[in-house]
Amino acid sequence: MSRNFALAAGQIAMALVFIGVMALAAYRSELNREQRIAEQIHVERVMVKQLVDLRQRLQHDLIVGAVGTSAAHDGVRIVGLNSPSAASSKPQPTGDDFAEISQALAGQGWDNSASADVTGSITDAPSPTSPPAAMPGQAPVMGVVSIKGQAYAAAAARGATPAVALQPLNLTFLDKLSRAAGVAPMRIADASATPPHAAHIDISRQLDATGVSAPHLVLQWQPKRPGDLVLIRDGLILMGATVLIALIMIGYLHSAMKKLRASEAQAQRLAGFDKLTDLPNRSQFGHLLALETGRSRRAQSSCALLYVDIDRFKEINDTCGQEAGDKLIQGTASRIASLLQPGDRLARIDGDEFAILQTEIVSARDCEVLATKIHNSLRQPIDLGNIEIRVRVSIGIAMFPADASSDDEMTQAASSALALAKKEGRDRFVFFEKMLGDDMKMRRTREEELRKAIETGNLVVHYQPIMSADGLRLSCVEALVRWPHPLGGLVPPDEFIALAEDRGLILPLGEYVLRQACRDGRRWPGVRVAVNVSPIQFRQKDFAKIVERVLTEENFDPTRLELELTEGVVIADADEAEAIMFDLRGQGIRLALDDFGMGYSSLVYLRRFAFDKIKIDKSFLESMESTGESAIILHSLIHLGRALGLTVTAEGIETPEQHRFLQAAGAHELQGFLFSRPVPREQIDRILAAQRTYDDPDAADQSRSVA
Ligand code: C2E
Ligand code: CA
Ligand code: CA
Repeated sequence: MSRNFALAAGQIAMALVFIGVMALAAYRSELNREQRIAEQIHVERVMVKQLVDLRQRLQHDLIVGAVGTSAAHDGVRIVGLNSPSAASSKPQPTGDDFAEISQALAGQGWDNSASADVTGSITDAPSPTSPPAAMPGQAPVMGVVSIKGQAYAAAAARGATPAVALQPLNLTFLDKLSRAAGVAPMRIADASATPPHAAHIDISRQLDATGVSAPHLVLQWQPKRPGDLVLIRDGLILMGATVLIALIMIGYLHSAMKKLRASEAQAQRLAGFDKLTDLPNRSQFGHLLALETGRSRRAQSSCALLYVDIDRFKEINDTCGQEAGDKLIQGTASRIASLLQPGDRLARIDGDEFAILQTEIVSARDCEVLATKIHNSLRQPIDLGNIEIRVRVSIGIAMFPADASSDDEMTQAASSALALAKKEGRDRFVFFEKMLGDDMKMRRTREEELRKAIETGNLVVHYQPIMSADGLRLSCVEALVRWPHPLGGLVPPDEFIALAEDRGLILPLGEYVLRQACRDGRRWPGVRVAVNVSPIQFRQKDFAKIVERVLTEENFDPTRLELELTEGVVIADADEAEAIMFDLRGQGIRLALDDFGMGYSSLVYLRRFAFDKIKIDKSFLESMESTGESAIILHSLIHLGRALGLTVTAEGIETPEQHRFLQAAGAHELQGFLFSRPVPREQIDRILAAQRTYDDPDAADQSRSVA
C-alpha cells in the first residue's frame, strides 16, 4: 500500500520537475536573448568609440566606409565611401599627410601597413567599384578613413587625392576588438549563415548605402548565455527541492499509513477478532471463558482450557520469512478448528499461541483425546508455498472446576501447565497439577523477599581467603554473598542467584556485592578482592562504566579488584564481551575465568580473551580420588595456564594431600576449606593480623614474650 503512495508521490514530483523545467527553459531563452542584444549594442558602441577616438586624435573627419569581399571571395575591394566628398576625385594627400595619419592610426592599434597599401590602391583605382589591386590577403576591410578638415583642404588645394586608411578585419584586429568589448572572439560571417543564438553586428550597412550588391557580412560571436547557467543552477535547486518534498511526502504518507494500520488493528482488537485468522483474540476469548465458567458453575458441568503454543515458531519465522509464518499460523488454526466439537471455541491469544475452550467434557480423557488429535493432525505437513512444515506444539491443559474455581485461576493454571510442557522438552501436552501452582506461589514469595532484602541492604558478604601455593600467605579474598533469611537461616547463593537472574534482580544484587567488597577491601591493603560477575550483569549496557563509578565512589584501587567471569559471559556475544573486557582491563582491573575446565571450549576463549587468571573448577579435585584421569587433566590444565602466562588458582582444596599435589603441579594460588571457609570480614581482619605477626620477627618476638 505504501509503495503505491510512494509511486504517486514520485509521479507528482516528476510533474513538478517537468513544469519547473519548462518554465526555466522559457526564462533561459529570454535571458540569453537579452544578453545577446546587450552584447550587440555594446560591441557597436565600442567600435564607434574607437572610431570617434581616432577621429579626435587625427583631428580629421573619419568615416566608416564600405566593406566587402568580391562576389567570388577572391579579393577585397572597396565598394564605396559614404562620404559625400569621397565619391568625387580629390587631390592626393601628401606623404606628410599620410605619415601623420599612419602614425595616428598605429597609435590606436590600427593596422599601419594596410593603410599604406590601400592608400596606394585607392590612388590607382579611384572608382569605388574597381577592386583595390594592392589589398593584402583576403580579409574584409572595415574602417575606411578619409580626411577632411585642414589636411584635406591643404591636399585639395594641392590637387591631391584624399588619403584613405583601411583596417582589414583580420584575426588580430578582431581579437583586439573582442577583448576591448569583453565578448567572445568575433569572426566574419555571411549574415545568412549566422546561427540564431549567435550575436552579430552588421558591417554591410555602408554597402547598401552605396547601392552596390555584395555579400551581406556580419561580425559574429558567441554571446554569453546567462540563461543556461540559471537553468543548471536553478534546475538543480528545483530538482533537489522537489526530491526533498517528495521524500517528506513519502515519509508523511508512510507514517499516516502506519497510524491507519495501527488504528485498523486497534479497531480489530476492539472488535475482538484477530485479523490474520478471523478467530477471537485474547480479550474476546476472556469474555467467552468467563461466560462458560459461569455457565458450567450453574449447570454443574465441566469445561477445559487448552493453551496451544507452536514450538520454535520464531525460528520458522526468522528462517522462512514472515509471510510463511503467517501461513503457518493460518494453517495451524484451521487444522485445530477442524477437530473441535460444536460449542468448543478456538482463539488466537498471542503471536503463536492459541486457546481452546472445550465445553461439555466428562473427564480429563476428553482433553487428552483432543490434544492427541491436535498433535497427530499437525504432523501432516502444512504447505507454506516454498516448503512444507510439520508443526510441533506444546499444550497446557487446565480443567474447571477441578483445577480452578474462576476463569482467572483457569488461565493461570493453563499457563503454568504450558510452561511445564515447554520445560519438559516441548511437543507434548501437560495437565495442570496443584503442585505446580504451589511451586509458583512459593517462587513469587521468595522473589518478593529477595527484592526487599536487596532494597534494604539485608544481604551479607563473606570472604574466602585465596592463599599462595605454600598455603602461608593470604593474597586475595573472594567475595561470596549470603542472604540472611528469617526462616531459612543464612541462605547460600546457589539457592537465590538463579532466581535473581531470572527475575531481573541480579543487577542491583551484583552492584551491592561489588560496592560492599570494595568498602570492606579497603581494610586489607595489599590484598586483592575477587568479585563474581553474572553473565547477565556483564551483558548490561555500560557494565564497565558502572564498575568504574562504584570504584570511584568507594575510593578503591582498581588494580586490587579481580572480576570472576564464567564462559557464559563470552559465549553470547564474543565481540561485545571483548570490548567490555578491554575497557575493564584499561581501568587496571584483573579478570579471572572462573570454573575453568567445566565449559565447552575454554581453551578457545583463553586464547582469544585477555584473562589474567584461571580458576580451575573444584569438580576436578572432587573426582581426583576416584579417577586417575582427573589428576592428569588437572596437571595439564595447570601447565596450560602457566604456558599462557596466566595466574593459575585451584579451588576446592580440602585435604593436605590435595594441597601437596596442586603445589607440586605448579598452581600459583589455592582456595578451599583446608585454609578457610568463606568468613565474615572481621575474621579476615584476624587472619591478616596473625599473618603479620608471623611475618614480622619483632612482632613475633614481642608476641612470644607477651605469651
Ligand atoms: P564460585 O564462584 O565457584 O565460588 C566458590 C564456591 O565454592 C563458594 O560457594 C565456596 O564456598 C565454595 N568452596 C570454596 N572452597 C570449597 C571447598 O574446599 N570445598 C567445597 N565443597 N566448596 C568450596 P558459595 O559461596 O556457596 O557460592 C556458590 C556460587 O555462587 C559461587 O561459585 C558463585 O558462582 C555464586 N556466587 C556467590 N556470590 C556471588 C555474587 O556475589 N554474585 C554472583 N553473580 N554469583 C555469586
Ligand atoms: Ca567465583
Ligand atoms: Ca568457581
